[in-house]
Amino acid sequence: MTVSVDTGPLDILRRLLEQPTAPFHEVRVLTVIGAILNHWGIPFRSDRHGNLIARYQNGRGPRWALMAHTDHPGVEITGVRGGTAHGTFLGGVRPDSLPGARVRLFCGDDAQGQPATITATRMVGGEKRVTIALERPGSVSPGAFGTFDLGAPTVNEKTVAAIAVDDLIGCATALSVLAWLKSSGARARVWGVFTRAEEVGFAGAQLLAEAGTLPRDTLVVSLEASKEMAGARQGMGPVIRVGDRTSTFNGDAEYRLHGAAKKLAEANSDFRFQRQLMSGGTCEATVFAALGYPAVGLAYPLVNYHNMIDDGGIAREQVATADYLGGVDLLETAVTAPAGDSLAGYYRRLTRATARYRKRLS
Ligand SMILES: [Zn+2]
Repeated sequence: MTVSVDTGPLDILRRLLEQPTAPFHEVRVLTVIGAILNHWGIPFRSDRHGNLIARYQNGRGPRWALMAHTDHPGVEITGVRGGTAHGTFLGGVRPDSLPGARVRLFCGDDAQGQPATITATRMVGGEKRVTIALERPGSVSPGAFGTFDLGAPTVNEKTVAAIAVDDLIGCATALSVLAWLKSSGARARVWGVFTRAEEVGFAGAQLLAEAGTLPRDTLVVSLEASKEMAGARQGMGPVIRVGDRTSTFNGDAEYRLHGAAKKLAEANSDFRFQRQLMSGGTCEATVFAALGYPAVGLAYPLVNYHNMIDDGGIAREQVATADYLGGVDLLETAVTAPAGDSLAGYYRRLTRATARYRKRLS
């Protein structure tokens, strides 16, 4: 696969959003990520589970990991008979919204994919089994994967709309920050971590966390597109995600992101940010938090989460472009901030301020 490389955050995002992806079938996204990293001369490797880990290091200071997943809910074909395919739908999409949904099935190097329609869904042992009518019988074989068929991505100054904004926009964020670090030569220590099979339960992230691939003091930022909600509105800026449906995150990591956001807002009245516990889902920060990593989230408010619309139909996911660009700015500021811009640094300042009351309270 030859991959052309554009360089700005919107170019990177567009390039990624053009790639079809599904849990366990992330190879096209990973190939583009590798090409972009090669273009910038940023070293990377794959771990034994196929997660991709890139690294930028210039000087010392806190270690950061910008983490995003490369998959999105989609279908895996397990059997084909004539014009009918059978498969499993992987990821959190309501079964009742699947029948009638148009999909595109990818086999081998097929760039365009084969058009098809999901005709029926049934739950078997917790799995969503789907029956699919092929437009061209014989066009796919078992092992193919499929995405919803919702057309090409849109990336303009206002809106990002695509099948798999979650979480290719997180991948684009990490890549954009790495590209900026490399081109500016800024002092920072940043890993870009691109995980697999998140939508089936954080499989890639969990195996990576258990392997201890990242040093235990790494500040892990889970980059996500997450369902819009009160206090996390689209167009109001990236959201410093202080927690998710399952757990609350690390105070120091969150303090650093918040400090960077406040610094940016002071310098630029157009910069907006939000700070919220986004309980619409669980993200990879919880996995790393459970294993003792200082983890936090950064999220973009998402409309049509997992392609589901309120009337039961299927549509492209949407994020505000300004939220994405603000998120890239926020992280660039955070990962290059002085080491002392930490919760411990705050406490040292507090201690100095409290010194004069020490005697009075004794
Ligand atoms: Zn998701």
